Amino acid sequence: MLVGAELRRIAALIVMCAVATVAAVADDSSTTSAAGFSCSSGGPAYEVRSGDSWYGIAGRADVNPSALLKANDAAVTDVLVVGDRLCLPSGADVTGICTSYTVRAGDSWGSISTRVGSSPGAVAAANGAGLDRTIHPGDVICLPSGASATAASGGSAPSGEAGGSYTVVRGDSWSAIAWRADVSMRSLLNVNGANARDVLLPGDVLSLPAGAKQPAAAPRVVLQAAPTQGPCGYRDTWGDARSQGRRHAGVDIFSGAGNYVYAVADGKLSGRSWDGAGGNSGNAWMLTADDGNKYFYAHLSDFAPQLRVGSRVRAGQILGWVGDTGNASASHLHFEIRPGGGSPVNPYPILRAQGGCNNGRPYTQPGGWVPDRTR
Ligand SMILES: [Zn+2]
Repeated sequence: MLVGAELRRIAALIVMCAVATVAAVADDSSTTSAAGFSCSSGGPAYEVRSGDSWYGIAGRADVNPSALLKANDAAVTDVLVVGDRLCLPSGADVTGICTSYTVRAGDSWGSISTRVGSSPGAVAAANGAGLDRTIHPGDVICLPSGASATAASGGSAPSGEAGGSYTVVRGDSWSAIAWRADVSMRSLLNVNGANARDVLLPGDVLSLPAGAKQPAAAPRVVLQAAPTQGPCGYRDTWGDARSQGRRHAGVDIFSGAGNYVYAVADGKLSGRSWDGAGGNSGNAWMLTADDGNKYFYAHLSDFAPQLRVGSRVRAGQILGWVGDTGNASASHLHFEIRPGGGSPVNPYPILRAQGGCNNGRPYTQPGGWVPDRTR
């Protein structure tokens, strides 16, 4: 039996009166009654259809099956019954599980429900939300079954044009563009019919979701020095899957243990983490360059002893040594680039443009000292 869902149904009955009252006050012309079902997962609600399975729903919503089970206090052996209401984990992609609608500037539960011939309460309930949940331009929500999707997309400009367009430049990523446009990455992907693994090329023209700000041009990142002493090797692993559902947000530079790790720009060390049990990064530095770009260095065997958080460093200055601390199976530097301090972008082309591993000779250090070729 689906014990969790049963308990929730009972709980839903208890709160239904209050919610139904709100819906009635909000909309006299209500034709569909609000179900009064709400999801503490922060994700939308989903009504089980014939032929559904836990794995099938998780696949269509682009979420981990275990996250789906957890959001419903359920076990994979729990039987799904047509009409059961489930909660999807937050971040679920609703385009695969319902008739979806991208919220535009000025929208409210009420204005959307009017356009699709439903009631505000029913639209909110289809998203596991109460009428007090605020919606933002670019959010992708579910319409209740029976709502008219064509009415939703008619009227003003098609959603693809609503937020304008953006031309991809070198070094861009989905997350960086979304961050600069002040919209969610999911809404940016949806409005372009794309998924996060789709590669962006300079010159590609993207649609922006309604309500997006025109993104400022991507800060052009030029490294003043290589991040590690050569010889070393690296390849483009941007976005590759990592443990616990993480995506690779940097480049792994394989360099001998004990090779120097260098500041790639003039700036200040703005953060340090120490190797510890369960940590992914091991010994790591964050460098904030004078132009606001941030650089993250992980897995160091050790830190240059005179450096502290707040220390000023110059491009080429030794920050520490390549190692395998944290979640690393071989000595390498995990290196990230965050233009303007925002979301990481793919460092691979930027590293290549700098020359990457073509730097066996150590840089001259502040004070004129030239280190030995090896440690
Ligand atoms: Zn890495």
